[in-house]
Amino acid sequence: MLRIQAALPDAYTAVSQEELAERIGAAKDQLGSRLFILGHHYQREEVMRWADARGDSFRLSVLAQQHPEADFIVFCGVHFMAESADILTGDHQQVILPDLNAGCSMADMADIESVQEAWEALERVVDIKQVVPITYMNSSAALKAFVGEHGGAVCTSTNARAVLEWAFRPDGGGTKVLFFPDQHLGRNTGLAMGYHHDDMAVWNPRYEMGGMTEADLKEKTFLLWKGHCSVHQRFRPEHVEAFRAAHPGGIVIAHPECAYDVCQIADAVGSTDYIIRAIDAAPPGSVIGVGTEIHLVQRLAAESPGKTIMSLDPLICPCSTMFRIDAPHLCWVLENLVAGKVVNRITVDAETARWAKVALERMLAIT
Ligand code: SF4
Repeated sequence: MLRIQAALPDAYTAVSQEELAERIGAAKDQLGSRLFILGHHYQREEVMRWADARGDSFRLSVLAQQHPEADFIVFCGVHFMAESADILTGDHQQVILPDLNAGCSMADMADIESVQEAWEALERVVDIKQVVPITYMNSSAALKAFVGEHGGAVCTSTNARAVLEWAFRPDGGGTKVLFFPDQHLGRNTGLAMGYHHDDMAVWNPRYEMGGMTEADLKEKTFLLWKGHCSVHQRFRPEHVEAFRAAHPGGIVIAHPECAYDVCQIADAVGSTDYIIRAIDAAPPGSVIGVGTEIHLVQRLAAESPGKTIMSLDPLICPCSTMFRIDAPHLCWVLENLVAGKVVNRITVDAETARWAKVALERMLAIT
């Protein structure tokens, strides 16, 4: 998806980090409780230090909703997160993304047109009333709305299993799910629920009928969109093996956006919240190899004295789109707010927001 962020003036790019920090602090003080800065776990430290709340995308959106006194929600994360915050917050609140080019490559792998085409293709082959669309939180507002309108729900990496169990509930659920955009979360969750690889097929939007036969479409229980997170898909079984060889007795924790061959051999699999809690609960002296974004891993390492926390991937793996949010962009949006100008506002139209909210509320009711 094309989003265009204009280059920042020299007043933001040709100054020291110290000056930027001073100016961000001053702008923050001036805006006071009218401003609420959200920092996703994967943000870099020069940004995270200013966050009023840290968390994953859904938790941050809920926190924004719980701060109605804040007129300006500055979301240091990526585009779909700012959309979710706009859906959940009041009409008087304005959500701002410091860099418009901070998208999510995974979210962009499932666009609304391709999903609608997939749905229409499915309608021609199967009883569509038996298909429940489920979208991961990491998706556009348009997809959340599609799901809301078609009897499905949103899920997070924490509650994906509960949402999928709901999708297959005997009283009113379906017999098949179309899960997007992350095939790995869908596969890992389905397998953990006791389904088999044979119950699943990958829907490739580049091909007619997703690249599947009619028989496949009829038989398979999980139709998994061909999408992935470029950060988590980098982790390979060889990383786990190398970590274990170097640290006998070490523990491996993988995020469920990692591929199945990694999750299968990890000691534990869980969301960012799970990873944070597991590291916190680990005894002193623990050595833990983590399969998730490097800024979170580095922060957990710094905040866990007496424990050795490291990335499973020695080549370091940041989320390049999250990384677009930096001190210059944060300073730029805040100083504009002080000057009475809202830049980079993210809005979701009323109809899309209404259906997306239905899908989000279904998730909340399930979990
Ligand atoms: S880490 Fe992966 S899923 Fe998360 S924002 Fe980056 S590309 Fe998207």
